[in-house]
Amino acid sequence: MLGISKMQTKNHIDRRGVLKAAGFGALAALLSNCQEDISTSAAFQRPYSRKPWVAPKISMDNIIREVVGHRPYRPSGFVVNSEKFDDKTVVHNYGHGGGGISLSWGSSALAVRETMGMTPGEIGVIGSGVMGLTSARLLQDLGWSVTIYTKDKAHLTTSNVAGGEWGPYSVHDPAVSSDAFKEQIQFAARFAHHTFTELGGIDYGVGWTELYNLSESPFEEGGEFEHLYPYRVDLQPDEHPFPVPYVRHELTMIVEPAIFLRRLTDDFLQNGGKFVIRNFKSKEEIFALPEKVFFNCTGLGAARLFDDQEMSPAKGQLVYMPPDPDVDYLTIGGGNSNLYMFSRTDTVLLGGTFKLGDYSRNPEPEETERIVSEHQRIFSGFA
Ligand SMILES: Cc1cc2nc3c(=O)[nH]c(=O)nc-3n(C[C@H](O)[C@H](O)[C@H](O)COP(=O)(O)OP(=O)(O)OC[C@H]3O[C@@H](n4cnc5c(N)ncnc54)[C@H](O)[C@@H]3O)c2cc1C
Repeated sequence: MLGISKMQTKNHIDRRGVLKAAGFGALAALLSNCQEDISTSAAFQRPYSRKPWVAPKISMDNIIREVVGHRPYRPSGFVVNSEKFDDKTVVHNYGHGGGGISLSWGSSALAVRETMGMTPGEIGVIGSGVMGLTSARLLQDLGWSVTIYTKDKAHLTTSNVAGGEWGPYSVHDPAVSSDAFKEQIQFAARFAHHTFTELGGIDYGVGWTELYNLSESPFEEGGEFEHLYPYRVDLQPDEHPFPVPYVRHELTMIVEPAIFLRRLTDDFLQNGGKFVIRNFKSKEEIFALPEKVFFNCTGLGAARLFDDQEMSPAKGQLVYMPPDPDVDYLTIGGGNSNLYMFSRTDTVLLGGTFKLGDYSRNPEPEETERIVSEHQRIFSGFA
């Protein structure tokens, strides 16, 4: 529909020019009004919000930053349990792959459940990414006096690199993970989803937004977290301008990591929390601290500190364009691998890559070019 309507509009303009040149001014004006009616008609608008389709401005010249992060990926899924080391207890809460922002409150709630039966006192949380901060806040609410030990403050963590779409995907390999884990992630997803809906608004950088999933093949029904998306409609080819045959339109949340982490840090400090900058070389260095109970929220760092052989990095590369408030939706898919466009208040973010086992920290120029050119193609059909 959009393509046809655009052609109709162009025909009107050409015809109007001819009529004007021939002196038929009134008729030309009438056609001009017709053109305005067409360009504001429902056919040009997005089905849910009735807003216009606005393409992000994507070009190599428009890049403001390239970013690399490493998702802490474990095929069998993230670890939440407690372990005794002589008189010390470690509660693990790590390994959330590509979904740690989404799962944060839920996974941390499960971790905090491990302290049931303990009398709240001094406790050490290792790590100040999203898992460390949400664990620390939940512990404070239960009366614990929390010190976060970390080598990096939140703005330097993987958590601050995340795109921030609420979607706990790329977290585990369902062919490898156990039924118990599948229950665990469902609980964590539901709990976290509920908590984020309570935190909606600019204070925590959490908001609802439209998401367009783009695909060359039909979508599967019954996805892992389908029940947590309140609106989900498959669009017909004449209802959207994307160059793919299958488009699934959903409502989801976006959690802006920089805002969210800063606010969690403020909340933590206001509730009496303390930060200590430490880079632990071994778990024995942790056990030399005075606290008896620790939360291990070290993400990828847990591989070395607690000898987790299953953990591997999944390198992700993102390309930032300047923010554009007119682009108020997200896209996922539409090309060869891992493409997404998230419009946030700080950037229009383009992803990405998912390279398992790759610890390198450099943005790869050929990936940047691919991410940019594939997204230019995705939005090439917009007016
Ligand atoms: C490109 C990219 C896009 C992503 N997009 C999304 C998304 O859209 N939605 C989503 O839900 N998730 C997304 N993620 C995943 C998400 O970012 C992670 O799952 C999450 O950040 C993991 O949080 P964490 O707190 O466990 O780890 P981290 O954020 O890595 O924090 C670990 C903390 O431990 C500390 N630490 C580690 N080792 C030591 C040590 N030896 N001594 C002292 N301190 C230590 C670090 O300094 C840090 O403070 C994305 C990730 C990437 C890379």
